[in-house]
Amino acid sequence: KERTFIAVKPDGVQRGLVAEIIARFERRGYKLVGLKLLVPSVGLAKEHYADLSSKPFFKSLVEYMTNGKAPVVGMVWEGPSVIKQGRVMLGATDPKAAGPGTIRGDLCLSIGRNICHGSDSAESAMKEISLWFGGRGEI
Ligand code: ATP
Repeated sequence: KERTFIAVKPDGVQRGLVAEIIARFERRGYKLVGLKLLVPSVGLAKEHYADLSSKPFFKSLVEYMTNGKAPVVGMVWEGPSVIKQGRVMLGATDPKAAGPGTIRGDLCLSIGRNICHGSDSAESAMKEISLWFGGRGEI
């Protein structure tokens, strides 16, 4: 069964959008198999965003994810094509390019505050689930 890692980032939690994001995945028919609320360590955030370590915004992204002003909600969702469809449901990384009907297209405007994250491949889903949950994501 296919699984992906979806996170509500601190801005999404702070804005009270956790239920909205969960509801969209539930209504679509996906199954929630892992859920945790946490302030990630700097090490976890750096590992999660390792691909972006050379980007100019990397430091502020890690600081933002870990400063504790609001926690992150990490989730594992399961179901048919959930990796690809999860990304479709989130919408484009830059909310200004995200279509209506997507989470980002409906709920935010700024790339630095795009409220959610979703794994972009089977490989990153596996890496992110074990990074945030250990094992396959059950708690
Ligand atoms: P995510 O991994 O969050 O689902 P993504 O895989 O669609 O996003 P990436 O290019 O991996 O996009 O960027 C990861 C995150 O880094 C983005 O979600 C965003 O929060 C942040 N980010 C990306 N580009 C910028 C930028 N130009 N300025 C500020 N933050 C950025």
